[in-house]
Amino acid sequence: MKSPYDTRSVDEDREVRVKRCPRCGETKPLEAFYVSRGRPDGRTGWCGACHLTSVKEWQATHGEQYLAYQRSYSQSHAHPTTTGHNKPGGLTYQERVTPEMTRLISRVRYAVKAAVRDGRLIRPAVCEQCGEGGRDIDAAHSDYMKPLDVRWLCNSCHARWDAREPKSLGPNRGVR
Ligand SMILES: [Zn+2]
Ligand SMILES: [Zn+2]
Repeated sequence: MKSPYDTRSVDEDREVRVKRCPRCGETKPLEAFYVSRGRPDGRTGWCGACHLTSVKEWQATHGEQYLAYQRSYSQSHAHPTTTGHNKPGGLTYQERVTPEMTRLISRVRYAVKAAVRDGRLIRPAVCEQCGEGGRDIDAAHSDYMKPLDVRWLCNSCHARWDAREPKSLGPNRGVR
């Protein structure tokens, strides 16, 4: 039996909304794609399965850097009484940022850039949080192992988000 989706398109059938994933080439119901505010159809370019695969591939390639990053971060936060970034007695940002971490961050930056170029991610013109436009919008990560799992925030919302929800991975500056 043929797949019920392969002859349908969004225009032909509004009851079963489908979309073709450019990565695996399959046409799938819209529900198979992650929700992505800021995209015209509200869904990511790649299907959910392809997103998971790409993240797994990314983790396999960059897992070592990630572990090194986590180690350096937990070392720098060995004293639970010193909370926050750059407190006196704590390590400075430069001291925490190991070469591994720098490489990881540049890989994440590249992954986001490539995703924006391929249409898997859309960089909105305005901040998700405050709706302000006309300024730099950061791709804010809560987890560098999910390089495409970003919130698009302006500098001040990004800083507030970091302060409100301290990242398990440390001072998580924006990836532009
Ligand atoms: Zn796919
Ligand atoms: Zn904002």
